[in-house]
Amino acid sequence: MVDLATQYQHMKPEVDEALQAVIDSCGFINGGPVKDFARELADYLQVHHVTPCGNGTDALQIALMALDVQPGDEVITTPFTFVSTAEVIALLQLKPVFVDIQSDTFNIDVKQIESVITPKTKAIIPVHLFGQAADMAPLMELARQHNIAVIEDNAQATGGRYTFPDGTEKMLGSIGDIGCTSFYPTKNLGGYGDGGALSANDENLAHAIHLIANHGSDRKYYYDAIGVNSRLDTLQAAILRAKLKRLDAYNANRRKAADQYDALFAENPALTTPYRAPYAYHVFHQYTLRIVDKRDDLQQYLREHDIPSMIYYPVPLHISKAYAKYGYQPGDFPVSEQMAKEVISLPMHSELDEEQIHYIAETVQSFTNSKL
Ligand SMILES: *Cc1c(COP(=O)(O)O)cnc(C)c1O
Repeated sequence: MVDLATQYQHMKPEVDEALQAVIDSCGFINGGPVKDFARELADYLQVHHVTPCGNGTDALQIALMALDVQPGDEVITTPFTFVSTAEVIALLQLKPVFVDIQSDTFNIDVKQIESVITPKTKAIIPVHLFGQAADMAPLMELARQHNIAVIEDNAQATGGRYTFPDGTEKMLGSIGDIGCTSFYPTKNLGGYGDGGALSANDENLAHAIHLIANHGSDRKYYYDAIGVNSRLDTLQAAILRAKLKRLDAYNANRRKAADQYDALFAENPALTTPYRAPYAYHVFHQYTLRIVDKRDDLQQYLREHDIPSMIYYPVPLHISKAYAKYGYQPGDFPVSEQMAKEVISLPMHSELDEEQIHYIAETVQSFTNSKL
């Protein structure tokens, strides 16, 4: 699905030198590159503050903790996401309140949010799934009306953007009260291990985030809040600094690969290619097709032709066993349930070349031509 080896070969001297410098300095925890990376990422995202942390899941958990929520408070998100988004809500004894997605963008259907807002609703977590922005303008307006915080789950869309109706364009992760991202190796900005970060513009919120990520402490052995231990390794920060400089180029390559797939599938009535919302600069974390009925057969066929593919996600969270206690039933979120049956993600990364794309697309077409 990704080709991290080729990507490394293209930048080996720079990465090797940065890693050696960290090892020589022995500043493995909170070393200089961590602070440098935080500043560079803040500049890139056009936010005042970035706090690096251990991974994207921690980022989401720290974000909720920084909001000062109480057990039993409610947090709205979608069931069609990676588990982290709902897991951290549940872990903090909060209640995940799900809202269905739109079938075209796979993102939260903003029109359905208002009907589930209660006095206990403290936050909304839109997920910019597969690299495409959720519809942030109406979502932010609704959240402001109801005085609810917005935490963007930007794990899959670093470098993506959203255009507001007045034409203003903003980086994803800079629109809500807090933005959370992940540097898991296969993400658009990926390290060579785990990593994550939170972004915020508000001074007080940024301070709370900084405290919580560091054991609730600003000054060694003095504790102002209950926190966690979640840090970005200096080695990862050194790698991420080198990759951040290339992120726009990586995302441009992903978009080019998506254009090529789109063109090759354009005449195929059996396939629905990814929709591109007019407000989004889509950074194609995934290239996800929809195919009715034959999805699993297509995946099997691709496997036989040595082409990897993935199902993101086979089971919506509201009907996953661990989340049964919240009382949702099959049928509650019909679009998420239908997408879970129809989606298939093809190889997508910054190193895909035209020949590979042609081979993958031809194999998909030979399946739809012969089996449908
Ligand atoms: C990857 C991912 C996360 C979690 O990131 P980790 O760094 O793996 O903890 C959270 N949300 C979404 C949507 C993701 O894709």
